[in-house]
Amino acid sequence: MKNSPISVAIDGPSGAGKSSLARKCASAFGFLYADTGAIYRTVGLAAYRRGVDRKDSAAIEKMLPAISVSLRYNEEGEQRMFLDGEDVSEEIRKPEISICASDVSALPVVRSYLMQTQRTLAKENNVIMDGRDIGTVVLPNADLKIFLTASPEARAQRRMKELQEKGIPCVFEDVLKDILYRDEQDSSRAAAPLRRADDAVLVDTTELNFDESFAAISQLIIERFCLQPDADNGVSPV
Ligand code: C5P
Repeated sequence: MKNSPISVAIDGPSGAGKSSLARKCASAFGFLYADTGAIYRTVGLAAYRRGVDRKDSAAIEKMLPAISVSLRYNEEGEQRMFLDGEDVSEEIRKPEISICASDVSALPVVRSYLMQTQRTLAKENNVIMDGRDIGTVVLPNADLKIFLTASPEARAQRRMKELQEKGIPCVFEDVLKDILYRDEQDSSRAAAPLRRADDAVLVDTTELNFDESFAAISQLIIERFCLQPDADNGVSPV
């Protein structure tokens, strides 16, 4: 086993199941789970609250030194996001903030502002980090890279279920529209576009349920690092 911390990068489009799978794998293998989307969402929320034009790079650049974005892990190992000291972990999940996050994340000034936070997490911990550019830009030397994807319709179905479970009302067509908007914007932007790293393993979950997707990713971790998951987490490798 290597001496420096292990890093696993999971990238992919919105709704591919990255967060829930990464969170469960992190807990099964005793890694820290770093949700970088939540960090971008917090900057998106700041722009939304302050009424700053999210596509205006100069205006956002001016806003950044005036805000404080930080994260903390609670006793359950859950990542909580803070904006100016306020816990905004729930608020950043609202659909309108997803779009704000996607808008601000296209700006190079925002990407470089958040780079160090992400790299520090991986430098100090065994981490499973999910996002759009983790394997390509943030952690190009990650020990394992996974590109997780699924069809837009399958992703919209899952996202809708998630929102409904949180009591956030939504309709399928709107959720699909949001997913397609973010796919297009995340993949076509000049700064760190969403793309599969050459050395990333592709996992397509369109036809897989959660347990099957979890087993597929766990298997990659077991094989790459010779690690065994915590027996309580019920991994049954495929
Ligand atoms: O992963 P999540 O859907 O929470 O991310 C919200 C938005 O933040 C994404 O649509 C994407 O535009 C942006 N993002 C990014 N790079 C990351 C993580 C998220 O650009 N590493």
